[in-house]
Amino acid sequence: MEAAPFGSGILSGSPNPYGECGADLWFEALLAYSEWPMSRIHLLSEEVASQVAAGEVVERPAAVVKELVENSIDAHSTRIEVLTRRGGISLIQVTDNGIGMDRDDALLCLERHATSKIRSGHDLAAIHTLGFRGEALPSIASVSHFRLSTREHNALAGTEILVNAGRIETVRDGGDAPGTQIEVRSLFYNLPARRKFLRTEATESSHVEHQLQLLSIAHPEISFVHLLDDRISFQLAAAPSLLDRIRDLTGPGLTNELLEIPPLETGGTRIWGYVGRIGVSRSTRQQQHCFLNGRAVENISLSQGIREGYHTALMKGQYPVTYLFIQMDPAAVDVNVHPAKREVRFRSPSEIREAVREAVSRALESNRSEWSAAFRPALGPEEPSRPTRAPQDHPSLLPPEQERARLQIPVPAPAKADSDPVTSTERPVRQPEPLTPTVPIPIPIPEPTPPVKETFRFLGVLGKLYVLMENSSGLVLVDQHAAHERILFEEMQKRMTTQGVPSQRLLLPITLQLGPKDADWIHRNFELLEKAGIGLEPFGAATYKIDALPTFVKTDDPAQLLHDIIDELRDTNASSAKLRMGEDMIAKTVCRHAVKANDTLREPELARLIEDLLACDLPYCCPHGRPTMIQVSYLELEKKFGRKA
Ligand code: ADP
Ligand code: MG
Repeated sequence: MEAAPFGSGILSGSPNPYGECGADLWFEALLAYSEWPMSRIHLLSEEVASQVAAGEVVERPAAVVKELVENSIDAHSTRIEVLTRRGGISLIQVTDNGIGMDRDDALLCLERHATSKIRSGHDLAAIHTLGFRGEALPSIASVSHFRLSTREHNALAGTEILVNAGRIETVRDGGDAPGTQIEVRSLFYNLPARRKFLRTEATESSHVEHQLQLLSIAHPEISFVHLLDDRISFQLAAAPSLLDRIRDLTGPGLTNELLEIPPLETGGTRIWGYVGRIGVSRSTRQQQHCFLNGRAVENISLSQGIREGYHTALMKGQYPVTYLFIQMDPAAVDVNVHPAKREVRFRSPSEIREAVREAVSRALESNRSEWSAAFRPALGPEEPSRPTRAPQDHPSLLPPEQERARLQIPVPAPAKADSDPVTSTERPVRQPEPLTPTVPIPIPIPEPTPPVKETFRFLGVLGKLYVLMENSSGLVLVDQHAAHERILFEEMQKRMTTQGVPSQRLLLPITLQLGPKDADWIHRNFELLEKAGIGLEPFGAATYKIDALPTFVKTDDPAQLLHDIIDELRDTNASSAKLRMGEDMIAKTVCRHAVKANDTLREPELARLIEDLLACDLPYCCPHGRPTMIQVSYLELEKKFGRKA
């Protein structure tokens, strides 16, 4: 059958008044119209309207691939094959084994706003499919040479339709296998302005590949093949689990670095998936994948939740590796925000952010028990037996006075009195106790389950900073400065939730002048600051007097310290602000006063340091996310020495 047989719209074949100039130039034409004396407003022809819509839905080949593959997924396909040539600019072909279409539907699906997925505005409130706008196919067909071949499973024959720049040229019987095949050739050939904006073929190819990877991760149960210029880019069998799909895609290297998120259910929302172990991060957001109801999405509440879940375990400027899956009532989220549907809007963003935070931090914590069980220390060459703890390590066993003194252990090197602006006056502060008790009272630590697997043997200290130890896997390096930061950080955190951090009066109180917003912030967080050991007194409208600082703090400029704290914490979002603020502030004050890199520690002090580190909630990184420990395995050493390939 030749020529357009059907209805109105792009299929009716009304001529494009602007020839090849396309949507971009149409706006210029509209401006020119404004100078005409006649009516200035007129309806766009369907053809131009489709091209305008195409500009939003399909800005590049990867977007076409996404729309076509999503249609295949919505059509219950179990196998999807994608072929792209020259970055998808010359050809995109998607073949599926889904439900297919009969002839009427095949023609109808090329009309704008034709969809089988929703019927009324009411349905928009709860979208269960990937598509729903009924825009993709007509948009793509209006900017390419388009071929659709489709057949229902029980049909004797299928239908083949050829479309050029939105005009149906041919409709005939087709003999392909059941399912649907769509070919898109010479994308944007009739929109030179847009074609010019495409990047190199290699760049477009990598976008296509990325898009397909997202789709295949979102649907491990579907088998995917991607042929790139006739070479296999990937070939994925239907995978029994998400982890298998990730492994098939990325290789075993990455999956060994992932931790499973223990599934979390809260108020009809289910969260599961995988996150990178602590220390596994990237400098871009590229590896931060979030999937909502089977769709890859980007959303600020999700990324905030992830970041808050990692909290101090993530270095500044680094992004975690995540495969976070969320299933929730479609009515609780709006996916109709942007034509490409990548952005979503949650009805209660703070709830979802909190749930994600919880899920991520549970995953990281679950890893801790494994790790500490494997790494229980028994330090020192002479005492490789069962580890014991000095009484100071059991806060609950110590009288408050001693416990107070214990918090001051951090700086074993003698502090220089003259460089210290904080001088003890009204609140006398005891001198730090020696790190090792003269008569150690060994108290067996609660036996971890499973029982002790590993012991460390102390080897020495490198460059006054790195503690070298041996365990059964090889060499362990500990950054004593980072380790100490972590220990102090967690100690102070605990103190803040109980009786508060010990503080020291300043000899000369410092006046702090603040803007109205900062003064208000201080006013609201007064109690917490006090718990953190910072003594403040109102002194006029927006002026405060700083009269005490935590004992650890040795700063020349207390006012600057407070300004830093305010700057850093003011924008933390409201719900978790209190907790976060406290924690961050502690991290900040603590890190300045941890053991300096070149402080020389004696062996028992080091033993204590390592033991305290391993007792931390997150021992492997300092409060800024830098690692505290690195394991160099025998295997790595053997490779370096050429003993093994
Ligand atoms: P939407 O996906 O938003 O409904 P599209 O323009 O992408 O809009 O597709 C229009 C309709 O064509 C779909 O609703 C669906 O019924 C049908 N369709 C598209 N692709 C396929 C396919 N691969 N298999 C079966 N039906 C399809
Ligand atoms: Mg669609």
